[in-house]
Amino acid sequence: MIDSHAHIYCDAFDDDRDQVIARARETGVRHIIMPNENLESLLRLKAVRDAYGDYVSLTIGLHPEDVDGDFASKLATMHKMLADEPWVAVGEVGIDLYWDKTWREQQLEALDTQLHWCVEKDIPFIMHCRDGLDECLWVLDNFDGPLPRGVFHSFTGTVQDVEAVRRHGDFYFGVNGIVTFKKSAVKEILPVVGLDRLLLETDSPYLAPVPNRGKRNESANIPHICRFVAEQLGVPVETVSEATDRNVADLFRIEL
Ligand SMILES: [Zn+2]
Repeated sequence: MIDSHAHIYCDAFDDDRDQVIARARETGVRHIIMPNENLESLLRLKAVRDAYGDYVSLTIGLHPEDVDGDFASKLATMHKMLADEPWVAVGEVGIDLYWDKTWREQQLEALDTQLHWCVEKDIPFIMHCRDGLDECLWVLDNFDGPLPRGVFHSFTGTVQDVEAVRRHGDFYFGVNGIVTFKKSAVKEILPVVGLDRLLLETDSPYLAPVPNRGKRNESANIPHICRFVAEQLGVPVETVSEATDRNVADLFRIEL
């Protein structure tokens, strides 16, 4: 199993990161992909990579909630760093209008710019899209040239939303602990997404799955999500873990 989206570099793990990584390994999580947020967090990602080596992969990108009036200079700084590391993706990028719509236009532009980085580096995007699916799809519609590959992480849309995304390209969908929540309808998209386009993620430290809902989330919770998905699809757990590992290897071009 692979945790395709975990913020294990954030300060919520500063006191016990060694144990968090050890627990992940013990439960069978073989790799963790760390999505970036901003310029400051890039330093944290690198420090975690220096400590845990090949067990983690790095991505680069400006999170939509970090897009503000200064976004162009932040992006210029990041763009200069594209050659610095073997980044496996541009992310997380996207649109988030949940708390604040002030920087909507800037979010659209930042997303478009960063999708071009994917093309430039031939790496996928990790799309964060909260109260902004229409905007994300508008950016994809208006993209100049062929679109890069990518994943819509923490996807909580409907079957119709999956179909709308697919009209733009053959993308992957990341599912996390939300799928295990009693009132969540995410389970309904599982058969439509299918095992060959599904990624497992925790989005740690947020969104811990049942039975650990409400606690700090960590990568060792991936088996709970994997098991739930397997039950929903009526297949063995190994079928889900093997398929989703293969998807990560294919999308991010990671050798496992
Ligand atoms: Zn995230």
